[in-house]
Amino acid sequence: MNVYDGQRLAALMESRGMTATTDPADADVILLNTCAVRAKATDKVYSALGRIRRVKKPDALMGIVGCVARESGADAFRRVRDLNFVLGPQSYHKLIDILDNPDAKLLNIDMGGLEKFDALPPMTRSPLVAYIPIQEGCNHCCTYCIVPYTRGRELSRDPIDIINDVTHAAQTGAVEICFLGQNVNGYKFADPKSGQTYRLSDLIQETAKIDVIKRIRFTSSYPTEMTDDLIDMFRTEPKLLPFLNMPIQSGSPDVLTRMNRPNDVNQYIDIVNKLRDARPNIQISSDFIVGFPGETDDDFEQTMMIARKIGYINSYCFKYSPRPHTVAATMSGQIPEQIKAVRLARLDGLLNEIQREFNDACRDQVMECLYEGPDKTGMHLVYRTPFMQQTIVARPTDGPIAHLARIRITDANKASLRGEIVE
Ligand code: SF4
Repeated sequence: MNVYDGQRLAALMESRGMTATTDPADADVILLNTCAVRAKATDKVYSALGRIRRVKKPDALMGIVGCVARESGADAFRRVRDLNFVLGPQSYHKLIDILDNPDAKLLNIDMGGLEKFDALPPMTRSPLVAYIPIQEGCNHCCTYCIVPYTRGRELSRDPIDIINDVTHAAQTGAVEICFLGQNVNGYKFADPKSGQTYRLSDLIQETAKIDVIKRIRFTSSYPTEMTDDLIDMFRTEPKLLPFLNMPIQSGSPDVLTRMNRPNDVNQYIDIVNKLRDARPNIQISSDFIVGFPGETDDDFEQTMMIARKIGYINSYCFKYSPRPHTVAATMSGQIPEQIKAVRLARLDGLLNEIQREFNDACRDQVMECLYEGPDKTGMHLVYRTPFMQQTIVARPTDGPIAHLARIRITDANKASLRGEIVE
């Protein structure tokens, strides 16, 4: 979601004649688009602001947008006195106001619903992967999560607006559509005129009709919202990639209960089995939290077991960090940092091992991959497989770079694949 928000803000500033720079000493407007999901991310924002304020031009505007802005509110001005604006994730379109009136200080962390989607200019060119938000906020209230506080209750966008965005993205260069939402598969829009209810599966079917769109995916999914119509899309719609992010967070029913998440691990496994029945080569990714309050050694071993059983790829694990405004922050049984670190290292090691096994199994396969950009040296090109693995090929000596290329995988390590473009 932050990538999309950043692209929209960049489009706004470009529409005002500005150009992007990565050098804060050169910038007239400095904006940090922030995430508050972990305490470390929030700390990084304030240390970055401390570094930037020492090098920025005296009259440059500097501000934060996103979830740290919503979390900090007016306190952000106290912590960094030369901040000019603090805009929450649902009010970042108010950046227009500070550009028009740069001498003011602007604080807006209102929960403005879906207003922002219409308030900013459309992007004049789309990246190959267009991120299209379809819903905002979350009703699930996991006890560790700050999102319901920073992004509010769930709101689903009108499907007409979404398909207009998809069409615009296709007309301006997109090849892949990634539907976004904190609870993306909970998308539900009841048309007040027709009474018809639209789901994510309807959006996928409409999008697949657009010829230039070749790949479709969505993130992040809540396990018990994987309805049969959506699972069936993996059977019937070939443009839907065989890859799904469906976080489980823990393999222990006790921990899941305390997290206020679906605690029937067998039900989760049943959903994965249905998905594999619909699309036999589908791969699943997850996020995991280790060291949640009260997590015992046995609870943690259950997480290790589910990670191995499902065989998650492209997954992330984090140490639990208490966030303000959350129930879990006040729970008894907080786990010492050393124990969290040991568990994190073990789970991380297992996830890396599974990834390595999957990457190895891809050798000699030919996959259609989407171009992402040059690597750091400029000597190679980076593509993404349908399973989101980074794949590196030699830069062709002549001719245009193919946006979609058939690539034979020739080598693999735990982080990436190597391959050659097949004519
Ligand atoms: S489902 Fe996701 S976004 Fe919603 S409360 Fe839980 S962790 Fe947060």
